[in-house]
Amino acid sequence: MQKPADNQASFQMQRALIQAQRHLSEDLNPQELPGRILEQLAFVIPYERGALMLQDGPILRITAQRGFPVDERIDNLVMPARPGDIYEEMSKTVSPELIDDVTTDARWMQVDWLPLNRSWLGVPLFAKNRVVGMVSLTRVEAGAFSQADVLMATAFAMQAAVALENATLYQEITLFNQRLEQTVLERTEALRRALDTLERMDRNKSDFINVAAHELRTPLTVMKGYIGMMKMDAAVKASPSLAQTLTGIEKGTDRLHDVVNNMLDLARIDNQVLDFKPEHVSVVSLVRRVQLDYSHYLADRKLTLQVDGLDSLPPVYGDPALLLKVFQSVVINAIKYTPDGGIIKIYGRPIQDAQAGSCVEVCIQDNGIGIDEVQLELIFEKLYTTNQVALHSSGKATFKGGGPGLGLTIARGIIQAHRGRVWAESPGHDETIFPGSTFHILLPI
Ligand code: ADP
Repeated sequence: MQKPADNQASFQMQRALIQAQRHLSEDLNPQELPGRILEQLAFVIPYERGALMLQDGPILRITAQRGFPVDERIDNLVMPARPGDIYEEMSKTVSPELIDDVTTDARWMQVDWLPLNRSWLGVPLFAKNRVVGMVSLTRVEAGAFSQADVLMATAFAMQAAVALENATLYQEITLFNQRLEQTVLERTEALRRALDTLERMDRNKSDFINVAAHELRTPLTVMKGYIGMMKMDAAVKASPSLAQTLTGIEKGTDRLHDVVNNMLDLARIDNQVLDFKPEHVSVVSLVRRVQLDYSHYLADRKLTLQVDGLDSLPPVYGDPALLLKVFQSVVINAIKYTPDGGIIKIYGRPIQDAQAGSCVEVCIQDNGIGIDEVQLELIFEKLYTTNQVALHSSGKATFKGGGPGLGLTIARGIIQAHRGRVWAESPGHDETIFPGSTFHILLPI
């Protein structure tokens, strides 16, 4: 049976152990932790010299020490971990080793410049299913460590090993986070540079379009003036073939004028200087106007344009000339990308949109070649066209006639200036089954 005094001592030791363990679990700095372990251990088991050693290949290195003489040789003090050595034995058994008097133990290798301490207690540090090092304690007197000390040191070393492992993990995570943050910073910087380049390229494109449009407009105006004068000329009036040739030239010039005007519109949208005169506009009147203007294209291409349910729509608030351009672009595309004999339907409804509020949604649906899913957004990009440049035809409404790729960009720019939205939907592109496309235009009322 234990005596009351023994009980008291055991209780105090256990309290010291719990306190020491609490301190260790708070410390997450792997550089300072080994020193803290030895410091806390001194409260639990008195010792004269202590070292915490971690295995580094075939040797044990001192990571922290207490009570050693001040000597720079301590930095190079290592203990071999070879077969037959004390540590090697301890690694196998994973149990503490107590030597009551080192002078009588053949395995002991006394470091000549260290004062002789006769008692030695070694406790393995067990982590990740293996012994990773040990705590080595010595006392001057022989037989100074008791069995209770051995038990206490073992319990303490188990906690110390867990604390060391946690601290290492924490450091690894911290390092990983730092590296991740650095990578994110680098990637963000690379993206910013790429964005700068893209923005510069986009500005170059806009500048080119702007300059080219202005350069082309002057000679075009001169040409149109001369064409007008020639039409008045008696010789032209008298010659049907000359008049026909002149009409051909005039048509070509008008088409060129359209393209140049589109380029100027785009430059205005890019520079946010769109001339915008809003009023209440009836959608159905805009659509009827487009239907009338394009009636000869529809007839030539044997296309049917059905307008449905637009009469009851409330008026939208916008610039009628700009909105007319939007409907012209989308309808001329529906004409261009629908084969002869196809049907184009235009219908609408009032809706409540989360972003744009009370709106009118107008849909322009065709049964043409359709659009690939990947192109649905790209077609609104400046100068983007899915056709090969070589296949472009000069006819404004020819099937798959192609164009400069400005129509939808301008349409989106105008719609956005009205705080509306425009987008395309299509089951895909197919020139055998003609899945068709639907363009949705959302305009606030
Ligand atoms: P453009 O018609 O001058 O090429 P747009 O900006 O008007 O330029 O259109 C861009 C591209 O979108 C077109 O080249 C075409 O490939 C595609 N597209 C537009 N409308 C349709 C449609 N209704 N059906 C199929 N493709 C279309």
